[in-house]
Order: sequence, then structure tokens, then C-alpha cells
Amino acid sequence: DTIGDNLARTVASFGDRDAMVDLPSGRRWTYDELLTDVDRVAKGLIAAGVLKGDRVGIWAPNCPEWTLLQYATARIGAVLVCVNPAYRSHELSFVLKQSGMKLLVSAVQHKTSDYQAMVGEVRESCPSLKDVYFVAVGGGEPHTGPDSWQALLDGGSGVADDDISSRGAALTADDPINIQYTSGTTGFPKGATLSHHNILNNGYFVGELVSYTEHDRICIPVPFYHCFGMVMGNLAATSHGACMVIPAPSFEPVATLDAVVSERCTSLYGVPTMFIAELGLDTFDAYDLSTLRTGIMAGSPCPVEVMKKVVAQMNMTEVAICYGMTETSPVSTMTRVDDDLARRTETVGQVMPHLEVKVIDPVTGLTVPHGEAGEFCTRGYSVMLGYWEQPEKTAEAIDVARWMHTGDLATMDADGYLNIVGRIKDLVIRGGENIYPREIEEFLYTHPDIADVQVIGVPDQKYGEELMAWVVMRPGTTPLTAEALAGFCQGRLAHYKVPRYVHVTDGFPMTVTGKIRKVQMREESGKLLA
Ligand code: ATP
Ligand code: MG
Repeated sequence: DTIGDNLARTVASFGDRDAMVDLPSGRRWTYDELLTDVDRVAKGLIAAGVLKGDRVGIWAPNCPEWTLLQYATARIGAVLVCVNPAYRSHELSFVLKQSGMKLLVSAVQHKTSDYQAMVGEVRESCPSLKDVYFVAVGGGEPHTGPDSWQALLDGGSGVADDDISSRGAALTADDPINIQYTSGTTGFPKGATLSHHNILNNGYFVGELVSYTEHDRICIPVPFYHCFGMVMGNLAATSHGACMVIPAPSFEPVATLDAVVSERCTSLYGVPTMFIAELGLDTFDAYDLSTLRTGIMAGSPCPVEVMKKVVAQMNMTEVAICYGMTETSPVSTMTRVDDDLARRTETVGQVMPHLEVKVIDPVTGLTVPHGEAGEFCTRGYSVMLGYWEQPEKTAEAIDVARWMHTGDLATMDADGYLNIVGRIKDLVIRGGENIYPREIEEFLYTHPDIADVQVIGVPDQKYGEELMAWVVMRPGTTPLTAEALAGFCQGRLAHYKVPRYVHVTDGFPMTVTGKIRKVQMREESGKLLA
């Protein structure tokens, strides 16, 4: 199936069930209404001259129009380019040109981001860009005029239904449908080109493994521009007839928990930092989260202590951890609802159905024994078509046998459960010893005064690298010193794993997907030590 065929199939079975709820504006769609609106957008795109394979961009925080455009582009075979809402004009200009974008939908503005002004700054410099339409997000007054979302819809009023079906009939599931830029955690974002087959299968199987049905209501506070929102959220929902609930344009812990309660959500998504923020609310105990059953935690290593609280205090007894990357559509491994609690909180689960994985020595390329760390590689339907117009980068990532080399370090046990122990780039080598910062972070989470912690390597004359811990203290505690931390570690952690430096901070540099940018922490630490 293509994504458009799959949506039509869901509509045929569950047309009168809820498909999407946007809480900021109070608007709601059943599946019948969703398909009607998707096709209005598709007609608008056809009228604007969008052809199969043309790049159509979306640069906006979460809003229902985002989802409508996602399915409208899929219905007619345009390639949706997801642009990170945290980008500024310089990065937007890069993506516009790199993808050769023809039409862009953007937000008028949100919080401190004036998207309209930023688009204005770079528009002239991008000759391929013909049209830009703006939408008001967050429940604001609708934007009007010739560059409004409404104008895009109005433009398509003369297009016939047959035009959409004939476009759909000309598509195959292997056509590119989406360019998603990676989070940019380790460097400049790369545009992963994905097909219907890539992301629809992945969304479908993610939904299968958390047993979604048309009775599920999924609270999605993670950004749509990223595969977590648009594949594990939207595509998992629509391929099972479940409902997508949008709590706010960008993550807010209060709006998220309010949405779970008011919409009786059965599933909640987040990266670890989001769950930490929700659990940390003063008002947390007042929320009745008893409708929650499942949810997904993914995107970065999930501290075991946090997972335990999610299960016990948020009622997410069937919560799953997913591991993956943009380049693999994204999910490669996932816990199953019937895994025991230890496996469901401490591992990233087993390989997804119909995919292969192996853990190799990055130098020799040989598979390592169970329990030993090596580079995680995966092969199968989920591996992207390639990086958009970057054949050399594609060749570095995907080998001739079609294995995707992820750059992540993992271990696999004898039963096939995987653990992510870090990124190759974050591995610290101190005096010849390989140190996985993740292991030390997990240990330091058990310190009663530490609310959050990250460990990085900093250059050192004698050992090559030394460890530094960035620590966020719990309110009302005394800032930790390196000596006090060493005392805590004494006798419980090998001496070479004890951080030499401690930096007390209010938070960490982050990407908009909620990932911690260790590259930036290392740069800042260099300055702190100088
Ligand atoms: P870039 O590739 O631009 O540096 P990025 O790798 O963060 O950014 P994404 O594709 O959004 O971009 O994220 C994928 C990465 O996130 C994985 O390679 C892995 O390092 C990390 N990750 C995802 N899920 C998990 C998880 N459950 N546990 C640990 N790490 C995870
Ligand atoms: Mg990456």
C-alpha cells in the first residue's frame, strides 16, 4: 500500500471514529472528515502546480494542518520536506535550497518565532520556491489573504476528485515521499529520503506492538517534523484507526497532562526529558492518569529510574521503549508489552518484525559475541533510500550489502534484547579504557540530590580524556563538588569511571527533539576548564 491507500482503507472501516483532536483550537475530525480535508489540501496542491516528486515543505510547530499536509502530499506523490521549527532563516535557506523546494507551508508565528518574517528574509534567495502559505497555530485567529492556508484550499475548489485518484494510481510504495532531516545532535542535519514503504510499515508495526485499535487515543507532544511524531505518532494512529491528540504546538508539560485527562488518552509519547518534566510538576499528583495504558519513550537513553516512575505513577503499565534513527524510518528495536518489567525498562527491546540487526566491531566488521559492545547495524524495509542528494554520505552509512551503520554502540544478549550503550562519538577513552558515559549517568541518577545528569569526556594531558559530570541539583540541596561526588562513588564505581570534574548547571544544551547536544557540552566544558 501507499500511505494514501492505507488512509482510505482506515476511513472505509472507521469513518465515523475520531481521527484527530487539536486542543489549542478545539477543532476535531472524524476519519471521514479527515479524508475530506486531506483531499481539499491535495486539490489545492494540484491547483498550485505540484507534481509527483515535487518537494513540498512544512515549517511549523504541531498543528492539524501539519497532519493534513502530510497525508495530502502522500495522496498525490509529492515529497514532504519536514523542516525543524527551531531552525532560523539561515538553516531554512539551506533546506529550501538543498531540497529544491517548490511550495512551503509555514506558521505565522509561535512564541518568539516569527516564521513569516524569517521566510520573507530568505525567499528571494531560493529560486525553486514558487509559493508560500501561512497558517495560524495554537488556536490564534486564522490567517487571511492570498498567502493563507485558506487561499491554498480555495485554489483547489475546481479540481476534480478523479485528479486525486489518478495521481494516486501512478504511485508505487517505493517512491520517495518524505525528506526528514536528522536531529543534528552530532553535527549538521542530513536529509534522509524515505519511501511510503519505509515509514508506513514502520508506523504500522509500532502500532501493532503496542496493540493499537480504533479505541486508542494517542497524546502526541513530540514534534511532528520528526519521525517520532509523524511516523510513530500519526502513521501508527491512522494505520490502526486510532485518534491523534495534539496538546499544544510545542511541548508543555501542563498542556500535555491536561490533554491526557480531558481526552481520556490511552497512550502518551515523549523523550525522557519530557517525562521527567511531567513527573516533576508540583501539580502532578492531582492528575487522574488512569485512562493511560501504554505509550512510547524513545529518542535518547531512558534512565531506568524514570521508566519505573512512568510505569508506577503514570499508569503506563504497557509502556514501550523504542530505539531507532531518522535514517531507519525510524524504529529498529522495541520492547513488547509482554516483556517483563526489567526488560521493558532496562533494554530497548528486540528487533522489529521483518528487520535484521547485528552488532559488529566497527574496525573489523565482524559480529561481536553476545554481551559485548559494538556498532548497531540494521537491514530491511526500514532503511532509507539515501540522504537527499548526498551520495557520498549515503555510501558511508549504508554498505554494499544494504546494512545501515548507525554510529550507535549496543550490546545484545543471548535472547536478542538490545541495550544502547552510547554513540561512537560520545565514547570516552581514558588512559586506554573505554568508558560508556551512559553507565555512569545511570549510576549517578541514584544520588538523592541529583535531578538530572550527563557525563562527557574532556581533553586531558595525561589520560587523553577525563570525565566531567554536568549535574542539575534537586531544589533545596547544596551544589555537589567533585570531592563530594567522588565520596559517593567510592567503593561503588571503578576509580577510572569517577568523574574528575563536576559542573553544576540548570540544564543542558538541547535539540528541539529534546536530545542533549553533547558536542556543544564538550565545547562549553573546554571553555569552563580553560
Ligand atoms: P544527527 O544524526 O543529526 O546527529 P540524531 O542522531 O540525534 O542527530 P535522530 O535520527 O533524531 O538524529 O536520532 C537517532 C539517534 O537517537 C540514534 O542514533 C540514537 O543515538 C538515539 N536514540 C534513539 N532512540 C534511543 C533509545 N531508545 N535509547 C538510546 N538512544 C536512542
Ligand atoms: Mg544520527
